Amino acid sequence: MNKPVVIVGGGPVGMALALALHQQGITSEIHDIRPRGAAAGDQRILALSHGSRQILTTLGVWSEIQATAITDIHVSQRGGAGRTKISAREQGVDALGHVASSSCIASALDHALSTANIAYVGDSRILEALPSASAITLSCSDGELEAPLVAYAEGRIGDGAEVVERDYGQHALICRLTPAAPHGGTAWERFTTHGPFALLPHEQDYSAVYTCSPEQAERLAGLSDADLLTHLQADFGQRVQFTRVQNRFIYPLGLRYRSQPIAERQVWLGNAAQTLHPVAGQGFNLALRDCMALAHALTGAADPGAAEVLARYAADRRFDRRGTIGITDSLIRVFSNDHPVLRHLRGAGLVALDLLPPLRSFLARRMMFGARAW
Ligand SMILES: Cc1cc2nc3c(=O)[nH]c(=O)nc-3n(C[C@H](O)[C@H](O)[C@H](O)COP(=O)(O)OP(=O)(O)OC[C@H]3O[C@@H](n4cnc5c(N)ncnc54)[C@H](O)[C@@H]3O)c2cc1C
Repeated sequence: MNKPVVIVGGGPVGMALALALHQQGITSEIHDIRPRGAAAGDQRILALSHGSRQILTTLGVWSEIQATAITDIHVSQRGGAGRTKISAREQGVDALGHVASSSCIASALDHALSTANIAYVGDSRILEALPSASAITLSCSDGELEAPLVAYAEGRIGDGAEVVERDYGQHALICRLTPAAPHGGTAWERFTTHGPFALLPHEQDYSAVYTCSPEQAERLAGLSDADLLTHLQADFGQRVQFTRVQNRFIYPLGLRYRSQPIAERQVWLGNAAQTLHPVAGQGFNLALRDCMALAHALTGAADPGAAEVLARYAADRRFDRRGTIGITDSLIRVFSNDHPVLRHLRGAGLVALDLLPPLRSFLARRMMFGARAW
């Protein structure tokens, strides 16, 4: 028998899980098809909730992550009524969330793994998994492994799984925008006729996610920097002036999730369990909560892969998982639709948010903590 838990996938989620298990005295071993350190080259910029900061602090890596604080979030819709501002000061916290690069998070986690002496096997492909009553046998490119439990954090949902899918028929154009004046920690969520346009303050710039049809995304991807800048400025409006656009790429948007994140001696976490629309910025935040809950569920278990242990974990996560998937899905459908009735409802919702501090506070807590907001 190898380690009690084999983790397939050594991206940020697999590494965070290994550290969370280590803190509970549970040994694990990570296997990744890429060489060790490859995750530090990933380009994504992630919004981290206040709860994620607490988890990364508990895992001992927060002080190594260069993160930009979000002190205010400005929400509005173009061509419609209503806008609101959620501020950290009003919520009694120093930041509503933070923004950091996935590469910086991965480097900090990798460093912590080395310090804790947690095994990470790079260039290792898992070919097959065969569960039995007492263990699960994994055939991999470099031999065979046996463990009570395998946790998948492969960053995608493989073929053959029972999945629920929704194609939003939209793409996200992701880029870096330099503002003319300091951003002051303000994030912007602007709902336009073709979908949400989000700006996250990151270092001196904004990380922008611009949602539109696949055809428009292709067209924008082909524009010169100057023409793209003019287009984005016109669409965003004049509240923020942009001087430069860089690092653009296109990402197709959809929702895919496993109807069950567990099976016999197996558990799926992060994007391997659910792949969410990036506009809501929830994927990694939800995954970190999964990691902590799994480590907690396995603590003291004689057999970490026992059916009742995994069932308890899945039951514990059902509310947060369903809630986060549901809210992300509804947000995209309500806010990416230009039906006049929905536009008025959105306006009314934003006005209500602006007038009702408790409602604003509820939304802010949901963003900061996930299900713990309730
Ligand atoms: C554009 C964009 C913006 C986003 N913004 C946010 C945000 O603001 N906030 C937020 O919380 N989330 C956000 N997300 C989601 C977030 O990026 C993901 O939830 C998170 O990065 C997933 O991490 P992971 O470790 O599960 O997957 P990955 O980072 O993809 O890592 C998976 C690892 O598994 C390895 N692997 C794959 N297959 C195998 C195999 N068969 N065997 C062994 N190893 C394997 C890979 O090599 C890789 O190292 C965004 C996503 C996108 C695409």
